[in-house]
Amino acid sequence: RGGPKNLPIAEVFIDDDEAGSRQQSKTKPRLVILGGGWGGVALLKELNPDDYNVTVISPANYFLFTPMLPSATVGTLELRSLVEPIRRILSRVNGHFIRAKAEDVEFSQKLVEVSQLDHHGKEVRFYVPYDKLVVAVGSATNPHGVKGLDHAFFLKDINDARMIRNKVIQNLELACLPTTSDEERKRLLSFVVSGGGPTGVEFAAELFDLLNEDLTRYFPRLLRNEISVHIIQSRGHILNTYDETVSKYAEERFARDQVEVLTNSRVKEVLPDKIVFSQKQEDGCVVTKELPIGFCLWSTGVSPTSLSRKLARKLGDAQTNRHALETDTHLRLNGAPLGDVYAIGDCSTVQNNVADSIVSFLRKLAWSRGIEPETLQLHFSDWRTVAQDVRKRFPQAVHHLKRLDKLFFEFDKDQSGTLDFGELRELLNQIDSKLTSLPATAQRAHQQGHYLAQKFNKLARISDAMLANDIRDGDLDAAVYKAFEYHHLGSLAYIGNSAVFDLGEGWSIAGGLWAVYAWRSVYFAQSVSFRTRSLMAMDWMKRGLFGRDLVA
Ligand code: FAD
Ligand code: MG
Ligand code: MG
Ligand code: MG
Ligand code: MG
Repeated sequence: RGGPKNLPIAEVFIDDDEAGSRQQSKTKPRLVILGGGWGGVALLKELNPDDYNVTVISPANYFLFTPMLPSATVGTLELRSLVEPIRRILSRVNGHFIRAKAEDVEFSQKLVEVSQLDHHGKEVRFYVPYDKLVVAVGSATNPHGVKGLDHAFFLKDINDARMIRNKVIQNLELACLPTTSDEERKRLLSFVVSGGGPTGVEFAAELFDLLNEDLTRYFPRLLRNEISVHIIQSRGHILNTYDETVSKYAEERFARDQVEVLTNSRVKEVLPDKIVFSQKQEDGCVVTKELPIGFCLWSTGVSPTSLSRKLARKLGDAQTNRHALETDTHLRLNGAPLGDVYAIGDCSTVQNNVADSIVSFLRKLAWSRGIEPETLQLHFSDWRTVAQDVRKRFPQAVHHLKRLDKLFFEFDKDQSGTLDFGELRELLNQIDSKLTSLPATAQRAHQQGHYLAQKFNKLARISDAMLANDIRDGDLDAAVYKAFEYHHLGSLAYIGNSAVFDLGEGWSIAGGLWAVYAWRSVYFAQSVSFRTRSLMAMDWMKRGLFGRDLVA
């Protein structure tokens, strides 16, 4: 027992009679990972098997392949195909798994407080000690303070997908009953998606495919024009964080498919049988509208988990972002003892270094001209080069940076046609405060997990002699490994049997069968294991041959 709450400390996970490799791990540094999602698993996949004594703590004992989750909701893929047991992934590094929820971290004593229900349904709490801790707990659904969300469905986890699938099929069956009135049938067949981000859009597309492909065949009683799919989006466009061509393509595609896209609309309340929202009209007036709902999906972005909130509060001034845990560019949690605690994936954000990166770009520019940076006079054409560089490195920020060109003129206070150093500094400050963060994507979480593993591998290799040197009290991470840099590999969104590619820098390809296969192979390659790949391939084949499995 020990720690501030005098709870049991789960120190000895390694029994004396355990295999040799596990015995040895007693003396290794204890690496504890919170969360078995994209970030945590990417770390596990890349970590050397023998360097750390690894423990994963997560309430879910499986990794979930989220990009395919929308497909699973309508039976295009089997739910089972999308999950992989964490213990299986852990076995490569001889790691331990604790199925429990992290509740708190005692940074000074290096203890994680965890909770789990025992077999009586009573909550038990204990501590797990660490030498290095990685927080990768992902995010929660953002309720935006809207009333009645208990009438809506979410799409975050495998259980959510199962419930959605059952509900969709149940509605179809109810709609077919001879006793169901016309009006009731229309309501049952009204599917509303709140949120025009990738999850909402992909779900709507999958649903449309289902209704289009299987329904007319197996539910001949249902008329196509009684079924409706609607997307409610608060912004002016769906997929608004993507390249413009992608967002436009998706909108046109939906228009053709008769999926109704309601933009500039905010949901006010979800009731059991209808959804109430306000829509800003072109003349600026705001009108309140309603839609009957048989089913409503709520997918309007992410917010921090309770653990993230708690840690941020605990670390006080070192954490200033309301949306995520802030780290430095080496992914170390700001405010925690240096080199003890890291945060990756959706739960985290790397403190903005856009301004830093512009500054170093400008330095180089000044050097190349043989002048001091302070005397640099930046012309508009230079600024465009800078802006291009920023777009390349921080592509997800592009929708904030679309106005980069305008910023130049705004900050050229003396209207000299150039920005001097003082004007530039002001401009950079504004960018820093405006720019949000890295995208909440599997891609980012994966890159960060991969990065940490490579760094940890390296850290385990540095000799004791090096440690004994003055590096010990200094910045060890920075001494042995580079800072994290995000590489945007393109976002993908699936729009009803054809993929939309956003490869950054204007390289967008939309539509076509080719895209479908490319899209699938990209995800095949990203997918974690041969097992998952095989299962998905079989599902696709099965669906191709027999159609979807419409049983609930
Ligand atoms: P997660 O993968 O969410 O993992 C978090 C883990 O932490 C889970 O294992 C969870 O059980 C665990 N956990 C939670 N709380 C605690 C706690 N208190 N203690 C311990 N463990 C905890 N991204 C893309 O790049 N491309 C896509 O096509 C795409 N499609 C998506 C579709 C859907 C339906 C959804 C929901 C997401 C999609 N994403 C996509 C986003 C992507 O899934 C996330 O960005 C990614 O999962 C983030 O990884 P993570 O490791 O931070 O968190
Ligand atoms: Mg994770
Ligand atoms: Mg996951
Ligand atoms: Mg998540
Ligand atoms: Mg000027």
